[in-house]
Amino acid sequence: MKQKRFILQENELPTAWYNIQADMATKPMPPIHPATRQPLGVDDLARIFPRECCVQELDTEHQFIPIPEEVLDKYKFYRSTPLVRAYALEQALQTPAHIYFKNESVNPLGSHKINSALAQCYYAKQEGTTNVTTETGAGQWGAALAYAAKVFGLEAAVYQVKISMQQKPYRSSIMRTFGAAVTGSPSMSTRAGKDIITRDPHHPGSLGTAISEAVELATTTPNCKYTLGSVLNHVGLHQTIIGLEAEKQMAMAGEYPDVVIACFGGGSNFGGIAFPFMRHNLKDGKQTEFIAAEPESCPKLTRGVFRYDFGDEAGYTPLLPMFTLGHSFKPANIHAGGLRYHGAGVIISQLLKDGLMRGVDIPQLESFDAGMLFARTEGIIPAPESSHAIAAAIREAEKCKQTGDEKVILFNLSGHGLIDMTAYDQYLNGDLMNYRITDADIERTLQGLPSI
Ligand SMILES: *Cc1c(COP(=O)(O)O)cnc(C)c1O
Repeated sequence: MKQKRFILQENELPTAWYNIQADMATKPMPPIHPATRQPLGVDDLARIFPRECCVQELDTEHQFIPIPEEVLDKYKFYRSTPLVRAYALEQALQTPAHIYFKNESVNPLGSHKINSALAQCYYAKQEGTTNVTTETGAGQWGAALAYAAKVFGLEAAVYQVKISMQQKPYRSSIMRTFGAAVTGSPSMSTRAGKDIITRDPHHPGSLGTAISEAVELATTTPNCKYTLGSVLNHVGLHQTIIGLEAEKQMAMAGEYPDVVIACFGGGSNFGGIAFPFMRHNLKDGKQTEFIAAEPESCPKLTRGVFRYDFGDEAGYTPLLPMFTLGHSFKPANIHAGGLRYHGAGVIISQLLKDGLMRGVDIPQLESFDAGMLFARTEGIIPAPESSHAIAAAIREAEKCKQTGDEKVILFNLSGHGLIDMTAYDQYLNGDLMNYRITDADIERTLQGLPSI
């Protein structure tokens, strides 16, 4: 009998996160203050984020960072997550490739986001913070943060992208169930929100508008810190629990991946599964290929430029060196809400620039075709975000079919799609379409890049 699922015992869980910055030959460039244009240190960032997260953000020295005991205890509620051999998908594709996926959908919140939410709330609580704010797009991060805040006894205020709030009403219900206060963004409750609404009364909201509002609330409220679900280095660090587990689980399966794939919003689940394997490329001469799957409608990795840009629409955040489409980029309302962000994380941008990974862009319909095949073979309905990774994995498996290569493909299933059934309905009814953007569209928003 061939084994399908590989699971670690509690005492086999990794006890430290992997910090790839320590192993990078070219270190990431620093975040920069938008007004003074000086590099930012821990003290500057700690005005916004929990201090320990800022220390981790800028740590280019320590290869491994211990996971606090209290965070490990909470990880044990749902970790390890299974590594699964997708035999049924392989068979449907008639591919000689071995396809594995790491199933991050099997926790009460339904996505990988909880891995970092628990860490960020733990550090906030340790430092005497009482309130946390954040933004959320599709709602997975907000849901994870709402739960983590409750676990560690913090009050959470979440700004949710207005359009996503309308498309996915259940996600606000989940956040409110865990005790968070939820506001649609742009809103009239902040200066940033008012400015945006004044300029464009029908603005559907974006991660950029919601970040501006959450940061403003955090910086104008005592004992309140802002938390972020993606993009930043410390978020990717916390997510490496995914790849560190997968490394042990692949060894249980007696294999090592030739290709590692994840979908790409800001880069946290990609970094989470990729970095622990990439360390063997950097240190031990392995030649694994790393592929980040982004939507065709928001192609910062494949068609963006590497520049300093703001993380948010209003220009409140530090300037970050990243592959970006420009902070004023307004992506189409695709269903993979978690992938509608204009820029890529700093570490990933550097790795991409250095040729250590590559991006692929996936049209919306191809992602749903892939998600549908996955659901019908492996029995799991994937999040529309995760379907981009599945589509990229299928492309690789199809190539193996042509060449006869028995490659080992590992992808991250970042979440399930059970709260995204409206999207599946639209797909099944033939109402979904692709959104290819023109070079002129990209040129236009790139003109708004800060000059530095
Ligand atoms: C948020 C989210 C993503 C995208 O975020 P990354 O930081 O790029 O991982 C992908 N999949 C799911 C299910 C998400 O919730």
